[in-house]
Amino acid sequence: MTKTSSHTPIHVIGGGLAGSEAAWQIAETGVPVILHEMRGVRGTDAHKTDSLAELVCSNSFRSDDATSNAVGVLHAEMRLAGSLIMRSADANQVPAGGALAVDRDGFSAAVTAALESHPLITVTREEVTGLPPEDWDQAIIATGPLTAPSLAAAIQARTGADSLAFFDAIAPIVHTASIDMDICWFQSRYDKVGPGGTGKDYINCPMDEAQYNAFVDALIAGDTTGFKEWEGTPYFDGCLPIEVMAERGRETLRHGPMKPMGLTNAHNPTVKAYAVVQLRQDNALGTLYNMVGFQTKLKYGAQAEIFRLIPGLENAEFARLGGLHRNTYINSPTLLDRSLTLKGRPGLRFAGQITGCEGYVESASIGLLAGRFAVAERLSQTPSLPPVTTAFGALLNHITGGHIVSDDEPGKRSFQPMNVNFGLFPPLEPGAVVRPEGLKRFRGKDKAVAKKQATAARALEDCARWLGR
Ligand SMILES: Cc1cc2nc3c(=O)[nH]c(=O)nc-3n(C[C@H](O)[C@H](O)[C@H](O)COP(=O)(O)OP(=O)(O)OC[C@H]3O[C@@H](n4cnc5c(N)ncnc54)[C@H](O)[C@@H]3O)c2cc1C
Repeated sequence: MTKTSSHTPIHVIGGGLAGSEAAWQIAETGVPVILHEMRGVRGTDAHKTDSLAELVCSNSFRSDDATSNAVGVLHAEMRLAGSLIMRSADANQVPAGGALAVDRDGFSAAVTAALESHPLITVTREEVTGLPPEDWDQAIIATGPLTAPSLAAAIQARTGADSLAFFDAIAPIVHTASIDMDICWFQSRYDKVGPGGTGKDYINCPMDEAQYNAFVDALIAGDTTGFKEWEGTPYFDGCLPIEVMAERGRETLRHGPMKPMGLTNAHNPTVKAYAVVQLRQDNALGTLYNMVGFQTKLKYGAQAEIFRLIPGLENAEFARLGGLHRNTYINSPTLLDRSLTLKGRPGLRFAGQITGCEGYVESASIGLLAGRFAVAERLSQTPSLPPVTTAFGALLNHITGGHIVSDDEPGKRSFQPMNVNFGLFPPLEPGAVVRPEGLKRFRGKDKAVAKKQATAARALEDCARWLGR
């Protein structure tokens, strides 16, 4: 039975990191919530308990440094917004250096107790097997990477076959500023302009024959991660890991993602590259580029080492490394509006990892936003969007609009889940980073740190203003 309030309840489906935070945010404004969680009735391949907000793997919320780390900034913004997930994490912290790590059982128990004892929250243990009925006029789907199959099928039927991914083939993403443009050059293959393009849409890294052979050898020898039991899905040819392609034959990559055709090295036009690695702009800001066709199962350490063999990427900084694992997520940039509502279905929002963010904290933060947006609509107000300069806003922008959708590879989905990182934030205003007094040389690492600090400070200031603090 719904607990007492004059408002009609908002339904939240999924009591993981995102759903728990969404429910809390809603109830704290005086609007009742019905939280539908299937564990207790039906489990997933990764969860072990029936507790709400269970951490399925690591117990770390990553860096808690709000002065120069993007996830630390997100922590701080969530605390400012009264997050239950952060309150419970802080109360169950275990020593982990600069990271915020938690006692996982204590953490989930704290979240579960807070939600179950809240006067406006009703937790029902049931699997929701289809899209919410129309009479749930405000609902949030937060069923995560392991969304139960019948709901996943219903989402797919509503949004289209290409709109739901079950497998996450992730290519590494590089901070543009770390690419050596004295070696690389901008050019689209055959200078093709394409819709919205300029003919110079890719960053190209050239390799000679010896470099290519050494690279293929390194890929084949690289350490790979094994699939977990629950990841029993076979590869499909559209997203073969790069090292699997390398194993299929020495020439495979040169005729696949590393083909040199249609490209002329701007620094050395008379010498034809033997192979070329291409990077494509990943966000509207142009601060991130992804490595085209480089989805991989190599271990993170091996990836960084091997990909830095690529000419021009010797000092590459990775916003995320590649991976391949089971993950249910929708093509949010085309399906959701700016306040996370499914286009064409007013009142139905998505939150958490299913929207294409990645990680405990990111998922919870998108739950926090979805909860606030749903409450605004319940109270007949327009949802207030966080400024894009905040960690909340940067992540929301990645999910709902900042990502560049590739149109030169029809049929391929290019939107991939991502952790929060400074590459998602808009650049600082000119002059925002000033040389500290007494410092003669101000470049390289010092300047990069100063930029992060200024971006973090701007985010926290803008977030406080947005929240009216
Ligand atoms: C194996 C694995 C390991 C991971 N390791 C990490 C890690 O180490 N660090 C990290 O930051 N992130 C990790 N992740 C990602 C992690 O799952 C997310 O960061 C986070 O849990 C996502 O939060 P969420 O609320 O979107 O989904 P979840 O936390 O998974 O919550 C979704 C909830 O919805 C419920 N549910 C699903 N379908 C239905 C339905 N039809 N009806 C009712 N309830 C339903 C589920 O039981 C679950 O409780 C991992 C993911 C997986 C699958």
